[in-house]
Amino acid sequence: MKKFYLTTPIYYVNDEPHIGHTYTTTIADVIHRYYKSLGYETFFLTGTDEHGTKINEAAKKNSLNPKQYCDMIAEKFKLTWQQLGIKYSNFIRTTDEYHKDTVQLVLQKIYDKKDIYKSNYEGLYCINCEKFMSEEELVDGLCIYHNTKPLFYKEENYFFRLSKYKDIIFEKIKNDEIQIIPDTRKNEILGKLQLPLEDISISRKNLKWAISLPFDNEQTVYVWIDALINYLSGIDFFDIKFKPSIYKKFWPCDLHLIGKDILWFHSVIWPAILLSLEIDLPKKILAHGFFTVEGKKMSKTLCNVIRPKQLIELFGVDATRMLILSTFPLGTDGNFSLSEMKEKYNQDLADNYGNLVLRTFSMIQKYFYNDIKIKKISYKIKEKILECVKNYKFQFENFELHKLSETILSLTSFANKYIQQKTPWILAKEKKVEELNQVLSDLLFCIKSATLLFYPIMPNVSLEVLKSFGETNNFEKEFVSLIENYEVNITKEKISSLDILFKKLQ
Ligand SMILES: [Zn+2]
Repeated sequence: MKKFYLTTPIYYVNDEPHIGHTYTTTIADVIHRYYKSLGYETFFLTGTDEHGTKINEAAKKNSLNPKQYCDMIAEKFKLTWQQLGIKYSNFIRTTDEYHKDTVQLVLQKIYDKKDIYKSNYEGLYCINCEKFMSEEELVDGLCIYHNTKPLFYKEENYFFRLSKYKDIIFEKIKNDEIQIIPDTRKNEILGKLQLPLEDISISRKNLKWAISLPFDNEQTVYVWIDALINYLSGIDFFDIKFKPSIYKKFWPCDLHLIGKDILWFHSVIWPAILLSLEIDLPKKILAHGFFTVEGKKMSKTLCNVIRPKQLIELFGVDATRMLILSTFPLGTDGNFSLSEMKEKYNQDLADNYGNLVLRTFSMIQKYFYNDIKIKKISYKIKEKILECVKNYKFQFENFELHKLSETILSLTSFANKYIQQKTPWILAKEKKVEELNQVLSDLLFCIKSATLLFYPIMPNVSLEVLKSFGETNNFEKEFVSLIENYEVNITKEKISSLDILFKKLQ
């Protein structure tokens, strides 16, 4: 079975979806659509992380009980993903019964294996990170992510023997059995793993809004351990929801897509849990960077939080997806600027791709009354498409996703130039019908290729344009043929007209 299982982090429900969540989830959807279109059996998991101190507080602020509050936010996430055309296979919530059962089963197994023991914990804890902090991690005594002073905790907790798995995890990361992308992050983790590694506390005594430990109901499961296990419960790995599970065949995970702030949990703690359970390890972990908005850190106090709804209203769904994906490289930090996005939208979508489609279609209508005979593709055009598909494949396989649109747009720019060179309006005037026919056929091959390649990024526009070729039924077959054999075919000779795809913004 050619399979592909990818996950986003589950999002903490202390806030409504913003561009940060949108960034990760959109990228996941683009990757998912690519592999699915290539005929892989795929599973795309996302969801919400609903336990912890902060949720209790947020619920109180909204005069709701924690579950009601979580229900409300989880719905907002689902609605946002629907609006953005994100098609996940499962939306897991850590308050789902089958997730809770999975967490308890996992902890019992680790406990039975004697990888959990009771001990005293004393130290600093950031409740916003839900994480213990060492003095070295703080700047001026504050958490670097939240600018807040961690609290001093002292209690008797259960600990997981993380140190036992340190060497084996180091080896597996070093030789890419667990591949961490980009390399800079891999080296960071390898560096950290060469320092002394302490066991971690995996339970809390006074936190009620959490899952109880199966072997001690005085304590609850540490939210991070609870959250990581979603990658197993989400495919019902232990046959708890379905008996037997039809999805557990997707394990091991092919790609955990995360932000760089949670890489330690995913590349060290998570593999250690899986090693203790004697379950295969995930294959790839991709940590994306942080970003600023208009050059500033995004925060509610600065009132510069971008919500996906704003972007959809401005650009429409497909262009929003394309702009989010294309603004900066996946592995590095970047910046979102509405004015730059607007400029890119006008240049790349309205003037380049959108204009090419409209110009070509209106010439076909004008010169051939939409009834054009498709000629054999010219050598030069075929070469250009080949080059474009090769780059596109390479970029997908190497997660250079910000370059995908640029690659596709190099083909549409080429086609726009081809129009200027061949001047179809002069060919029409001089009644050179054969030549005119060849030029317009070539343009259709370019448009169809670009449109197929745009599918994972802009599925709605892509299907709309393909529909005007009269051929959406065989979409997946055509996608595979283009990606694997560099072949594009146009079988129907009737092309129907289209409305403006991207209205130019002022
Ligand atoms: Zn923090």
